[in-house]
Amino acid sequence: MKAFLLIHDLLDLFYPNICPACDKPMQHTEKHFCIYCELQLPKTNFISAKDNSVYKLFLGRADVEQADAWLYFVKKGMVQKLMYSLKYKGNQALGERLGYLYGLDIKTQNTMKIPDCLCAVPLHPDKIKTRGFNQAAAIARGMSQALEIPFVEDLIQRQSNSGSQTRKKRFERWESSVQSFQMNADIHCGYKSVGIVDDIITTGSTLEICANLLKGFGVDKVQVFALCQAIN
Ligand SMILES: [Zn+2]
Repeated sequence: MKAFLLIHDLLDLFYPNICPACDKPMQHTEKHFCIYCELQLPKTNFISAKDNSVYKLFLGRADVEQADAWLYFVKKGMVQKLMYSLKYKGNQALGERLGYLYGLDIKTQNTMKIPDCLCAVPLHPDKIKTRGFNQAAAIARGMSQALEIPFVEDLIQRQSNSGSQTRKKRFERWESSVQSFQMNADIHCGYKSVGIVDDIITTGSTLEICANLLKGFGVDKVQVFALCQAIN
């Protein structure tokens, strides 16, 4: 064991793991990102406030029971760096870790209702082809472990839009976007409450489509969980 730790320390010395948020070397006990950055995460604290700005985004657009974003995303900020590592460097383990920490916060604060299961906003098929994975699914996997509820990966599916989107008028683009999301016919959704997970929320349009889709399929209560909210 001692020999293993010695080799580990030597490897750390020559090939240190770099924290994706602050670019500093991490200790071998730190995984995914450093403890300093973990303590500095810019939390919104929306968990304890039902009437928060993310919840208000859905008023009159979708019947959402509760909505939340865990962190603030600002340009060149720590969360942008973490999201870059997750999305463009394929750091799925980081996404799972962030999702796990988010889930733990929900659990310990005990102010939000825990849904029966989680699903993720599906990625556009073209992006799946280039990226190879859905970052929202990585976050949802971590959250499901912390909340001890199932993650139903392909509950909502997304197809490519037919025809050129640029030639369509605004309403036609919206209509075709709505049609590209579908419930997976192979999965029977008997869950009464479902939480939809996304990585980042801006206007909430995609989450609105997914929430309405779930309600249309008889899900009683829909909740929205975004890892972060983009602010100026
Ligand atoms: Zn760091």
